[in-house]
Amino acid sequence: MTVHHIVPPYLLERLEQTADDPTLRARYRQSLDHDAMFRTRPAASTTEAPAAPTTEAPAAEGAEASEAQGEAAAPSPQRAIHDAEHETALPGNLVRSEGDPDVPDTAVNESYDGLGATWSLFHECFGRDSIDGAGVPLISTVHFDRDYVNAFWNGEQMVFGDGDGVIFRSFTSSIDITGHELTHGVVQHTAGLAYEGQAGALTESLCDVFGSLAKQHHLGQAGTEADWIIGAGIFTDGVAGVGIRSLAQPGSAYDDPRLGRDPQPSHMSDYVDTEDDNGGVHLNSGIPNHAFYLVATTLGGNAYEDPGRIWYTTLTSGDLPATCTFAQFAAATQQTAESLFGPESPQAQAVTTAWTQVGVLPTATPSRTESIDLMRAAQTGLDTSTPPAPASPTPTPTPTPTPPTPTPPTSTPPTSTPPTSTPPTPSDSAPSPPTPAPPSPPDSTPEPPATDEPPGETAN
Ligand SMILES: [Zn+2]
Repeated sequence: MTVHHIVPPYLLERLEQTADDPTLRARYRQSLDHDAMFRTRPAASTTEAPAAPTTEAPAAEGAEASEAQGEAAAPSPQRAIHDAEHETALPGNLVRSEGDPDVPDTAVNESYDGLGATWSLFHECFGRDSIDGAGVPLISTVHFDRDYVNAFWNGEQMVFGDGDGVIFRSFTSSIDITGHELTHGVVQHTAGLAYEGQAGALTESLCDVFGSLAKQHHLGQAGTEADWIIGAGIFTDGVAGVGIRSLAQPGSAYDDPRLGRDPQPSHMSDYVDTEDDNGGVHLNSGIPNHAFYLVATTLGGNAYEDPGRIWYTTLTSGDLPATCTFAQFAAATQQTAESLFGPESPQAQAVTTAWTQVGVLPTATPSRTESIDLMRAAQTGLDTSTPPAPASPTPTPTPTPTPPTPTPPTSTPPTSTPPTSTPPTPSDSAPSPPTPAPPSPPDSTPEPPATDEPPGETAN
């Protein structure tokens, strides 16, 4: 199990290099060393839902409660917030359990609220009970180490640093950071994507998407009102930046002498080929991030409704390969949108347009009717080197003529609310409740062989 940090290593390395103050440099180095140590230390199992770190009774009670409540009581989050008291032992002292009132420590309350907001997004919008779908308790530790400049999910729990006070504030202050990190747990329990190359960048993107949705849902914001920033407010006032990443405009979140400039691309033409950062997982995530943003803002309304449902249903379909490429994921979201809303629906069209705009799908993605023309054209040997032409076959092996999707029950009741009475979904690869039909039309999977092979580029 990989330990997932919100601040990518290249950013801390840059800070270490540019800090004039030796004390500050040492802090960044210490955070980096901690991160590296956690990265190499085996953490939780990826399959079993670990009830909680071996800790005191409340966690165990939570686990039992979640089993017991499977049939009866409505699910609710089971939160437990701990204080590391500036040490590094986890989980630390339990300071607030589920249902306890606010405590004087702001970080504790912020963490409690962030866990609750994320739980609510997944439960109220997608019918999912906690990150494993079976009510696993949400464990968090605040005040980890001294001036620690990161937050992470270690496969079992969330951990938050207080920040250095120079560049970063406390990491509990941003709901989307908690949402991002907990979504790592959801990905771990569902698609189990590899944390490398395009699959890793997809993982990062899914975490950003649901992290932002957790905040939007909490605030009741429509997609057009949201900031689409991950880590909004995490920087101190002196920093020229609005957060760590932007889904609206990847590459624009910060531009500061100490941090450098946000290096995220938003289009496949700027895809970063690197071996650092697990193949640029925190960089290339800008591309699928922007695709989601485009879907959400094209459709309008609440992004955690239709757009979120398309992404969530795709994530939990059980059909994504562990090495999923951007193109494969794009095709899967097209398929999901078509089966949820119909092939000619605005939702399906928005999905296709968005992936085309970020360069993951070829410019002229044939519609189902066009695909017939396309196939005829291909048979007559048309020139294939002019991608922008409306219906020319593109050289990429990607979603070539989407063969007529065996029309899934378009008459499906527009289930906007998943059945909340559904028993806890089995944790792994569980088809999500609202999925109307197995989205695997015979032989329509347009994906290329399961290698990293996006149009024209390779991740690793
Ligand atoms: Zn992450």
